[in-house]
Amino acid sequence: MPPRKILLIDDDRLQHVLLQGFIGKFRSGPWELDIAADYASGLKKLTSGRHAVCLLDYRLGERDGLELLREARTAGCTVPAVFLTADASDEIDDAAMEAGAMDYLVKGEITPRILEQSIRYARKLGETLAKLQQMATRDALTGLLNRREFHRILEDECLRSIRFGHSFALAMVDIDHFKKFNDTHGHQVGDEVLKHVASLLAGQVRSVDRVARYGGEEFAILMVETDRRVAIEGMERIYALLAETPCIVPASNLTLPVTLSAGVAELPRDASDGAELIATADAALYAAKKAGRNRIMAAHRTAAE
Ligand code: GH3
Ligand code: MG
Ligand code: MG
Repeated sequence: MPPRKILLIDDDRLQHVLLQGFIGKFRSGPWELDIAADYASGLKKLTSGRHAVCLLDYRLGERDGLELLREARTAGCTVPAVFLTADASDEIDDAAMEAGAMDYLVKGEITPRILEQSIRYARKLGETLAKLQQMATRDALTGLLNRREFHRILEDECLRSIRFGHSFALAMVDIDHFKKFNDTHGHQVGDEVLKHVASLLAGQVRSVDRVARYGGEEFAILMVETDRRVAIEGMERIYALLAETPCIVPASNLTLPVTLSAGVAELPRDASDGAELIATADAALYAAKKAGRNRIMAAHRTAAE
């Protein structure tokens, strides 16, 4: 295994040498120290996600380590960070915590043992937070976003769409006659069908799009900066792939063809907010079911086009 990496972001060369010496004395070694001496390169390295932990100077030249950490967190960076400050104060303590730091150390008081211990606690806490985050936002069976997280993202996207004048599309997707899989082959096979559809959907959308398990056997796909026509084309590609990819359950020696019904709506064309967008896409999904399943319907408002 390659040595784990610690990122040090500090504009003071003396600190580089000092911390290199401390890290060399760690009992949990070997560790490699990666150094960034300014804000821009620090942010770039931190958001690369290649480091186990980051030691971050509180005062970073003209800029501020707090600002850097906030920017990294906003970009989705979860690397645990420990602040290094020249002096201790309650304000620094609060501000560091608010910015998402796990700990802070006063530079003059650092010893190899204190540093190693702080890093150990920061990493453990970081892992625990990541697990909690996973549990709070993901569906346990499929690993897709859960419904609550999906609603949060949908609201964000609605705000962005209104602010920047971009449209985006939502597809509500439901497995056809899913109950039959459960009733005929048992719930475990039903679960395999859910995982199969989830992984196919997640594998087919662009990396900027978001897929959620919205309910039992219902999925929601949010396609950013996409209009309804392009969203429907995307769904047609998914349907074509699913038609060639039945769900195979080796344990039960089964090959199960699966079909979907979907309703697609666009904001702002078909709705003016998130709730209305879901309702409109859901109504189109219901129409697809009524029309015989295994099909995609556009939102009702202009479905007759
Ligand atoms: P339709 O084509 O009209 O959508 O029919 P359907 O059978 O797919 O829909 P219905 O709503 O009648 O049945 C959905 C079933 O999905 C009922 C529920 O027991 C089952 N279900 C919900 N969540 C899970 C799950 O996590 N695992 C399994 N195996 N089944 C689930
Ligand atoms: Mg169904
Ligand atoms: Mg359903």
